[in-house]
Amino acid sequence: MALLRPQILFPLFAKATTLPGIGPRLGQLVEKIAGDKVVNLLWHLPSGLIDRRFSPKVGDAPPGKIATLVVDVLAHAPSPPRNKRIPYRITCGDETGKIALVFFHAQEDYLMRMLPAGEKRVVSGKIELFDGKRQMTHPDHIAPLHQIEDIKRVEPVYPLTEGLSSKVLDKSIRAAVALAPELPEWLDPAYQQRNGWPSWKAALSAAHAPASEADLSPTTLARQRLAYDELLSNQLALALVRLKSRTRRGRTSIGDGALRKKAEAAMPYRLTGAQRRTLEEIYADMAGENRMLRLLQGDVGSGKTVVALMAMLGAVEAGGQAALMAPTEILAQQHGETLRPYAETLGLRLEVLTGRSKGAARAEILADIARGAVHIVVGTHALFQKDVEFHDLALAVIDEQHRFGVHQRLDLADKGNGTDVLVMTATPIPRTLALTTYGDMAVSRLDEKPPGRAPVDTRLINLERLDEIAGGVSRAIGSGAKVYWVCPLVEGSETSDLAAAEDRFVHLKERFGAKVALLHGQIKAADKDAAMERFAAKNTGCQILVATTVIEVGVDVPDATIIVIEHAERFGLAQLHQLRGRVGRGGKPGTCLLLYAGPLTETAKARLSTLRDTEDGFVIAEEDLKLRGGGEVLGTRQSGLPDFRLADIMVHGDLLAAARDDAKLTIARDPDLETPRGQALRTLLYLFQQDEAVRTLRSG
Ligand code: ADP
Ligand code: MG
Repeated sequence: MALLRPQILFPLFAKATTLPGIGPRLGQLVEKIAGDKVVNLLWHLPSGLIDRRFSPKVGDAPPGKIATLVVDVLAHAPSPPRNKRIPYRITCGDETGKIALVFFHAQEDYLMRMLPAGEKRVVSGKIELFDGKRQMTHPDHIAPLHQIEDIKRVEPVYPLTEGLSSKVLDKSIRAAVALAPELPEWLDPAYQQRNGWPSWKAALSAAHAPASEADLSPTTLARQRLAYDELLSNQLALALVRLKSRTRRGRTSIGDGALRKKAEAAMPYRLTGAQRRTLEEIYADMAGENRMLRLLQGDVGSGKTVVALMAMLGAVEAGGQAALMAPTEILAQQHGETLRPYAETLGLRLEVLTGRSKGAARAEILADIARGAVHIVVGTHALFQKDVEFHDLALAVIDEQHRFGVHQRLDLADKGNGTDVLVMTATPIPRTLALTTYGDMAVSRLDEKPPGRAPVDTRLINLERLDEIAGGVSRAIGSGAKVYWVCPLVEGSETSDLAAAEDRFVHLKERFGAKVALLHGQIKAADKDAAMERFAAKNTGCQILVATTVIEVGVDVPDATIIVIEHAERFGLAQLHQLRGRVGRGGKPGTCLLLYAGPLTETAKARLSTLRDTEDGFVIAEEDLKLRGGGEVLGTRQSGLPDFRLADIMVHGDLLAAARDDAKLTIARDPDLETPRGQALRTLLYLFQQDEAVRTLRSG
C-alpha cells in the first residue's frame, strides 16, 4: 500500500526521526508516546499550555508568575568547587531591577555559552522570591534577542514521557504541523458549513496552538473536526470491509428443520424467548441471498452455545458443513464435549481440531473434513491453517470474538463459498463501542438469562484477610462446594502470572492437599485436561481449581459456587464480570470474593463497587467506559477495539453516529470512492492508516 499512498501524504509518513531535534534516542521516546511517523506526532494533541506573553520589566515581575524577560547578563557566580550543592547563580537585570538565574548541577561551559556576561538575552520561566530577592530557577527558555517572538507566545504543553522534554516535543511537533499540506476536503460541504468547521490543515494548526484553556477542550471546532475525521475514517473503513464481504456472493441455507427439531427434543431444557428470537434472526439471514455477518451479543451464561448449535444444524440440514471456532484450547474441547452428545443423537459426525491434533489422526480428520464426511468442526486458530479444507463450509461461528481480529473472522469465512458468519461475544460492548468495532454489523442480543440462574453475592475484601478467606473456603468445601481460585494478573509478564499461580497452588496445597488442582497456560495439554476434568466431574475429591485467567471465557462447571479473585484491582471490569460468570450456574447461589490490595484509588474503588452492585453486563460495561475511557474498557491487550487518538467516545458520541451515517450514504452512492469527494476520502483513509479498507478498494 505504500506505493499507492497519495504523494501529497509522503512527508507525513516519513520517520519521526527526520524531524529537527529528534535523533535515534529521542526517536524511541517519541515512538513510545506517539508513534514512529511524522503523522503520529500530528495526532499528539496538547493537554495544557503555558502563557509566556507576559513580558514585564524586571522590577515589575511578580513572584509566582511565568514571565518572559529581556535582561542584560551581568555576572556569573559558579558553585564553590567544594560545595556543588550550592547552585550556580547568574545575576541579570535591566534598568528597573535585578534577578538571579539559578542552576543546580550546572555545567559551566554551557552557561558561559548560553549567557555570556555583557550580552542581552531573553529568558522565560517562573519568577520566585528568595530572601526577598527575585530569582528564576532553571529558566524554561534562554535565547538571543532575535528569537523573542518565538518564545513570547502561548506554548502548548504535550503529554510527556520520562526523558522527553516538552521543549523537544514542542519543537518537533511544530515542525510536523508545518510539514502538513493542505489536503483535498473530504467533508461533505454542507455538513462542514453547518458545523462551522475549519479545513483539515487549519484545524490541525489550531489544535496545536491553543491560545487559552478553552482551546484545549475536545469540543472546540478544530478538535471536533479532527475527531470527526478520525471517526469517519473508522466508519468508512468498516463499511468498506463489510461491503466487500457482503457483495461476495452469499448462499441460501434453508433446512427442513428435522435435525433442529430432534436436537430441541433432546435438550434438558426449553430454549428461552431470547434464544428463539435470536435464532429466527439467524435463520432469516442464512436463508437470504446475501452472506450473513451477524454479531450475537449475550452476557456470560446467557446460553450462546446452544444458539450456535442450532444455527449449525440449520446449515447441516441444508447440506453444508459448519465450524465453531473458540479462542482457547480448553474452550474448544469443552464446546466439543457439550455438542458431541447432540451430534451422536442426530447421527452426525463432529470433530475437534486444535493445535493438539497431530500426525496421522489429524491427517485423517482433515481428509474427512475435505470430503464432507465431517458435519461439524469445533476448533481453535488451528482451523485457519492452510491445509484445512472444507468440502462445503456453509456457516462459520466464531465464539468470544474480541480475541480475534477483524480479518481473522473473514479468513475463516474464506474457507467456504459465501460462507455465513456468526460472531458471538460475551463481552457486553456498549453500543457506542460496538459501532466503532463492527460498524453496521447486524446485532442480535440475548437479553434474557436461562432460568435457574442464581444471583452471585459479590464482596470486596482486603487481601490482608487471606487467612480468614482460606478458613471460609475450608468450611465451604467441607459442605461440598467447588471453588475457583484466580491468581493475579501480573502486568506485562505471563511468566509472573504463572509464578503467582504456582505459589498460591503450593500454599493452598499445604492446607487442602489433593483437593487442589492447578491450571495455567503453560501446563501440558494432557495435564490441563486432567485438571479440568477432575474439577468438573463429581466425586473426584478435587474441589479447588487454582488458575490464571485461562478460565476466563466460557468454562462451564455448573457445580462451582465460589470464585476467589486475587488482586481484583488489576483486572478489567469486563474481565472480572466474565470470571464471576463462572459461578452461580447450577441453580445454587454463587459467591464472588474480590480480593484487593489496599489502598485503592477512588477510581478503583468505584469500579469494584460497580461490580459488587450489579450483575448486568451492559451496566458494567457502560460504567467502565465512563470511569476509564473507551480504549481501556476491555483491557487493551485483547480488546481489538480501535484506539482513537483524536476522538473521545464519551465526548464525541454524536459525531460517531453522524460519521456512521455519512459513511453509509457515501458507500451507497460511491462504493468505489471514485467521485471527487470519494478521492478525497481515499486520502483520509490513507491518512489514518486504514490499510485493510484500502486493500478492499485496490482489489476492487
Ligand atoms: P454462554 O452464553 O456464556 O456461552 P453457555 O452457552 O455456556 O453460556 O450456557 C450457560 C449454561 O446455561 C449452560 O450450562 C447451558 O447448558 C445452560 N443453558 C443454555 N440455555 C438454556 C436454557 N434455555 N435453559 C436452561 N439452561 C440453559
Ligand atoms: Mg460461551
